[in-house]
Amino acid sequence: MTQSLLFDSSLDLCAFQAGSPKCGTCGLWEQCCSPKMPVTGNGRKGILVIAEAPGKEEDKKNIQLIGNSGQLLRRSLELCDVDLDEDCWKTNAIACYSPGKEAKESHMVCCRPLVNQTIRDLQPKVIVLLGKMAVKSVLGQEWTRGINAMDRWVGWQIPLQRLNAWVCPIWHPNVLLHNQHAVLGLLFDRYLESAVSLQERPWQHPPQWESQIIVETSCWDVTLEKLERAKNEYKGKAVAFDYETDRLKPDSSDAKILSCAICFGGQRTIAYPWIPELAEWTSQFLRSDTPKIGANIKFEERWTQKVLGHGVKNWVWDTVQAAHILDNRDGITSVKFQAFVRLGLSMWDLAVENYIAGEDSNSPNRLASVSKRQLLQYNGMDALVEYKLAMLQRKELNETHNKGCL
Ligand code: SF4
Repeated sequence: MTQSLLFDSSLDLCAFQAGSPKCGTCGLWEQCCSPKMPVTGNGRKGILVIAEAPGKEEDKKNIQLIGNSGQLLRRSLELCDVDLDEDCWKTNAIACYSPGKEAKESHMVCCRPLVNQTIRDLQPKVIVLLGKMAVKSVLGQEWTRGINAMDRWVGWQIPLQRLNAWVCPIWHPNVLLHNQHAVLGLLFDRYLESAVSLQERPWQHPPQWESQIIVETSCWDVTLEKLERAKNEYKGKAVAFDYETDRLKPDSSDAKILSCAICFGGQRTIAYPWIPELAEWTSQFLRSDTPKIGANIKFEERWTQKVLGHGVKNWVWDTVQAAHILDNRDGITSVKFQAFVRLGLSMWDLAVENYIAGEDSNSPNRLASVSKRQLLQYNGMDALVEYKLAMLQRKELNETHNKGCL
């Protein structure tokens, strides 16, 4: 398949659209000494630092990050052998100083095309986002479910596929100036060091996982043959499996599974509609010893119990539980968030996102009205992403354990 059904190419272009900032609407340029402050720094190490907005001092001298916050950042970077001015480029989510006022989100939105243009021109390897405004400016375009609390973003090194760059959110150094807590300072230095030590781009070529999904809309006996072959070829290896259902909970008598997808060994993902012949094969497979991975496995377990009348044998990994064990911050355990911060992937649910929610957990959603191909493609991506997440989480858990931190 050459073109994804879920990744609308026109949307891709819009998401990181360059172009002109909306200075007429914003108006900040009229009130400052250094309007539309240009990027400064030599970027020798390919690191782009995006802060919030210029302060008074910076506005006067037409250079970013030379006030107290900038000095603090400079000192922290020196500990990592990074020179802010020589090794990095510096810019702001809002390019103009806002005298006597706090920089507002509306200013950031007007200025976002300038940030995008900067990223496009410089092609940084690492993008350090200082504070929530910078996070909203860059990640708000990719993560459309709401940025919410800054704390859940801090410290991740996001291998953003669309930019093939590491995007590393961290607190604005201003936060440290107002909060002298030693742990905060230690974490700031640690996260900063992890970000600026990244040597290579995250991807040799950004992956095209969506094109690897085998969407089965052919005769059921052909699908059955493919499933059987995959089962034998990947015998003993873990699989991730995922259902799409017509509501959240299976308790109503008319609740239905719509489709199922199985990712075999991370190599082959088959998504198929839920018809009796394939449900029968699935039932046997789920009772086999094959190790199973899921995201929020109680969902698949409940639906399997209700529809097939038995449980799933040999669950070995739940990406939601693992996410919580690895990092107990709020708002980070969903498969979508984990896929974004660990795999740099978002928006594979574009075609279905408005159809997933019912009025309540027992009311039908509208997934049945999505085209079969789109539903299966989405289902397949879920299974594949769950598999990849499980492998990354397991690796991290092993590394953490080996370091003796648990
Ligand atoms: S902050 Fe950005 S959008 Fe606003 S006036 Fe300055 S350059 Fe233009």
